[in-house]
Amino acid sequence: MKSLDFDALSSLHAHLSHLTGLSISVYGENGNRILLPVNENKLLSVVRATTTGREEYNEFMKKNLENTIRKNDVSISKGPADQHYFFIPLRIENTILIITGGCIYLSVQDFENFYRKKGPSYGLLPYQIKSWYPEICIRDYADIQDNARHICSLFSLILSSGHKDRIAEKRHRLMKIIISLISEIRFDQQADDVYDILLDIILFLFNADSISIMIRDNDTFSTQKTAGRLRDQLQSIPLTVSGIISEVVEKQRPVCSESVMDILRLGYPDAVTSIYAFPIISENKVTGLLNIFNSEVHREDADIIFGICKITGFIVRLTELLDMRNKYLKEIDVLNTATERITPVKEPDMLYEAILDTSVHLAGAEKGSLMIADDDLCLTVKAAKGIHKMLQSEIKIKAGEGISGRVFREGMPLIVEDIEKHEWGSSVKRSKYRTGSFISIPLKLGEKTIGVLNISDKITGAVFSEQDMVLLRSFASFASIALDRSSYYSLAGHLKELSITDSLTGVFNRRYFEERFFEEIQRSKRHSLSFSLAMIDIDDFKLFNDTEGHLAGDEILKHIANIAKDSLRIIDVIARFGGEEFAVIMPQTDKDEAFMVTERIRKSIVEYLPRTWNIFPNDAITISIGIASFPSDGNDRKSLIRNADKALYTAKIKGKDRTVVWANQQAKPF
Ligand code: GH3
Ligand code: MG
Ligand code: MG
Repeated sequence: MKSLDFDALSSLHAHLSHLTGLSISVYGENGNRILLPVNENKLLSVVRATTTGREEYNEFMKKNLENTIRKNDVSISKGPADQHYFFIPLRIENTILIITGGCIYLSVQDFENFYRKKGPSYGLLPYQIKSWYPEICIRDYADIQDNARHICSLFSLILSSGHKDRIAEKRHRLMKIIISLISEIRFDQQADDVYDILLDIILFLFNADSISIMIRDNDTFSTQKTAGRLRDQLQSIPLTVSGIISEVVEKQRPVCSESVMDILRLGYPDAVTSIYAFPIISENKVTGLLNIFNSEVHREDADIIFGICKITGFIVRLTELLDMRNKYLKEIDVLNTATERITPVKEPDMLYEAILDTSVHLAGAEKGSLMIADDDLCLTVKAAKGIHKMLQSEIKIKAGEGISGRVFREGMPLIVEDIEKHEWGSSVKRSKYRTGSFISIPLKLGEKTIGVLNISDKITGAVFSEQDMVLLRSFASFASIALDRSSYYSLAGHLKELSITDSLTGVFNRRYFEERFFEEIQRSKRHSLSFSLAMIDIDDFKLFNDTEGHLAGDEILKHIANIAKDSLRIIDVIARFGGEEFAVIMPQTDKDEAFMVTERIRKSIVEYLPRTWNIFPNDAITISIGIASFPSDGNDRKSLIRNADKALYTAKIKGKDRTVVWANQQAKPF
């Protein structure tokens, strides 16, 4: 390890972390962490704050570090929170280092899938998803590979320069200057500023006579910047991929020539006596050239300049990515404002209007309609802009019929530039639209489509863009959640006059539970969704009453109800089922997810319930839980409750203080 230049290593690490926005770490060959990430990814921190998350992370790192050393090859893998990481092995003399970096999602969809599916098990609340968008880093696979490759070549360049002999000293000093120059590049910089810095480095550090930087557009390189003695003469001369330039492009390495023929063929004036052309490479393609004229460039220096050109290509790519990220953040901002508009609206009819209004506004459109499917899979218009109110109630579309019906049935969004030319055009009897361009998006809850959102007639008269569609799709997923929530709200409204809560604990009462349970079975059957039922029973509660008295027992019941309610999600329903038993309905939740939810309740009770008792001999009040899921453990009220009860009984005989998930083979003991 003595041979490594730690200063250079850690300053490069810090600069690259800032520049790439990735959390980069450096490990030694025993898996010991040598450099920590400069900014730990916030989502990863939340995940690692949980016991499972921490274990997953450690296990993932250990496995990948070992693999990287064994295979001695760069790899990319998916880790905790579904984020991607790269692992780069670096051999410097007899030391092995592993550079890792990442916390990257391949797409927004990837992040959303993770958050919705697994987020709750790490305590991430569904309704806070919006606040996470600015924290996440998105790159496609090719970009991750490209970043990894460049980070690898930079580290090896710097580190190998650290332990060479005398000749390396100059090179080493130069590298340090270059690092500090790189560090001056800021996030808001454009490619142009990066080329300026490149120009300065070459001109002053290598005493070049004249330089040009060229940018490629197909087969032509045009001059972007020039400097030095021949500055003006070089400006207007473009280069094509021919002669020595073909060699630079094909082999992706520098080429120099002092041949008069070569130089004349390129079209340079007599004043040019030599050219050294260096490729600027980005995403594995030569995207530009750095040409040094009339200067003596030593081998050692040429290596360094080539290295700098590689860095330049990389940085230019990063500025492009940052630009994209900024645009994307702006969109998220628009989306946030849009979702904030619909979040407070609970009453269904008002919500339909608000969703449609916001969508039309987001897409800069004039017309639109929001259709929701009824029990017979018929779409009816719930809100419309640009269609007469009288007509709205008349429109009823069957699944598969017309454009909306097809989007509904297929569950895939549709963007059409001109309906007259579209293959589905024939299914539209008569164009109802002023312009032929529209967007039709299915409203989905999980795999289930609940309706369709149609937007047409852009105010500007233009056609809808891919970007309009991306924005509307993201909004539609929030809108679907809001619609789902509002259906519970309206149901709650019907029952308002009935007393639906239990007076002691404040959670729902048995009667409400039975109604909701029946309703949930119907709903889940209709939409082929699953849901879970949990039965909770307090352990040794008779003993608690006997030792501490009934009133103290009542207090415990209240605490348990409150803690359980706080640990549940908004969509879950908890009710007092009997004396000291509670029942929880978890819509759209499979067994594994239900298990995580109830385990969270169980642990919270042990942790947060105040220990106010004196004689009761147990250290903590504990609960046992039995879970049964629809439809796998029963498809009617009776069998679901019976199987959840049987699972609860198993939990009791296995020693209490646990969750047992019903499985068919357990039927035997009964
Ligand atoms: P187990 O661990 O097997 O569940 O043992 P247990 O003692 O909790 O047994 P069981 O569930 O059969 O006991 C129910 C007890 O709960 C009986 C009664 O004393 C108590 N209980 C039921 N309703 C209430 C109530 O409203 N208030 C109070 N304080 N206690 C109640
Ligand atoms: Mg009981
Ligand atoms: Mg009990």
